[in-house]
Amino acid sequence: MNEDDDLPPSAMEELDDMAQENRKQPENDTDVTVEIFDGVRGQDGSPVDPVRLQAEDSFCFRCHKDVPCWNECCHGADITLTPMDILRLARHFDITSREVLERYTVPAMWDKADLPVAKLKMSGADGKGACHFMTDDGCSVYENRPATCRYYPLGLASVKMKGADDKDEFFFLVKETHCSGHKETKEQTVAGFREEQGLEAYDDVNRGWMDILMKMASWNVLGGPWGQRLTPQTQKMFFMVSTDVDSLRRFVFETKFLETYEIDPEAVEVLREDDEILMKLGFDWMKNILFNEPTIGMKENVLQASISKARNEMGAT
Ligand code: SF4
Ligand code: SF4
Repeated sequence: MNEDDDLPPSAMEELDDMAQENRKQPENDTDVTVEIFDGVRGQDGSPVDPVRLQAEDSFCFRCHKDVPCWNECCHGADITLTPMDILRLARHFDITSREVLERYTVPAMWDKADLPVAKLKMSGADGKGACHFMTDDGCSVYENRPATCRYYPLGLASVKMKGADDKDEFFFLVKETHCSGHKETKEQTVAGFREEQGLEAYDDVNRGWMDILMKMASWNVLGGPWGQRLTPQTQKMFFMVSTDVDSLRRFVFETKFLETYEIDPEAVEVLREDDEILMKLGFDWMKNILFNEPTIGMKENVLQASISKARNEMGAT
C-alpha cells in the first residue's frame, strides 16, 4: 500500500489475530431492530406509520414538480450514504470515492452499531441548508441519487428475533407533515415502487454492509462482538471497505490478502475490474473478521499455521 494510506500492512495481521480470537467464540443471540433507511429527511418530527409493509402491500404517493412542497425535503436532510451511493456518485462526477468523501460528505458514527459512516453534506453553517445537489428543477444527480432518496417516503428496517437464524426485513411509511406527495392518488406496491426507483442494484451491493450494521447493533447490546468493543483500527477498516473502493482494491492486491484467502483465480481477475463485486468481497471478509462467519475461506497452509499458533498460545503440544 502507499505510504499515505490509512491502513498499514500490519492491519492485516492485527485483524487476523482478532478473527482468530473470534473463531473460539460461540454465536450471539440477541433481539434487535435497526432502521437502515429511515427515510427521515427533515427535522419536523417525521411521523412514521407504524404499520409494517411487505413487498406486495400498497400505498399512495407521487412526487412531481408541481407539488407545493417541491424540493423541501432536500433541505437539512440526514442521509447516511451507503457504499453503492458513494460508488455511483464517484462515477457521476468521474472522480474517486475518496474525492466524493472529501467534497460531499461529513464523517459520523452510527451509534447503534458503533461503526463509522459518511453522511451527505448539506449547505449552511448548521448543515440545515439545501443539499449541494439540489437545483430548481430537482436533483442534479437524479440518476445516481443516494438510496435514502430513492427509498423516500419508505423506510427499510431489519429485525433479528432471539433464536431466529436470519434477520427479517420490512418497510414502513414516513409521513412528514410538509410532504404533499401522500395526498396524491397514485397507488403502487412496495415492490413496484422499489423497481421504479432502481433499488435492487443498490440493495444487492449494500446488503453485506447492512448485515454488518445489523449484526454489530445486535452485538452492541453486549458491548461488542463477544463483549469486546471494536478497536479504532477495525472501525477504520470497516470505513475503508464501505466507502473507498480504490483503497480496498489496493488492500486486496498489494497486501498478503490473496496469499491468505482462497479466491478462485478467475474471480481474482474480475476483482481487478469490478467495483461492485470487490465491495461484496470486502463485506464478506469483514463478516469473517468480525463475526467468524464462513463467508471467506483461508488457504489450507495459512489455516494450519493459524491453528498451530493458537495451540502454541494455549500451551498445547
Ligand atoms: S441527493 Fe438529490 S434527492 Fe437526495 S437530498 Fe440531494 S438533491 Fe435531494
Ligand atoms: S412531495 Fe414529498 S418527496 Fe416530493 S418534493 Fe414534496 S416533500 Fe419532497
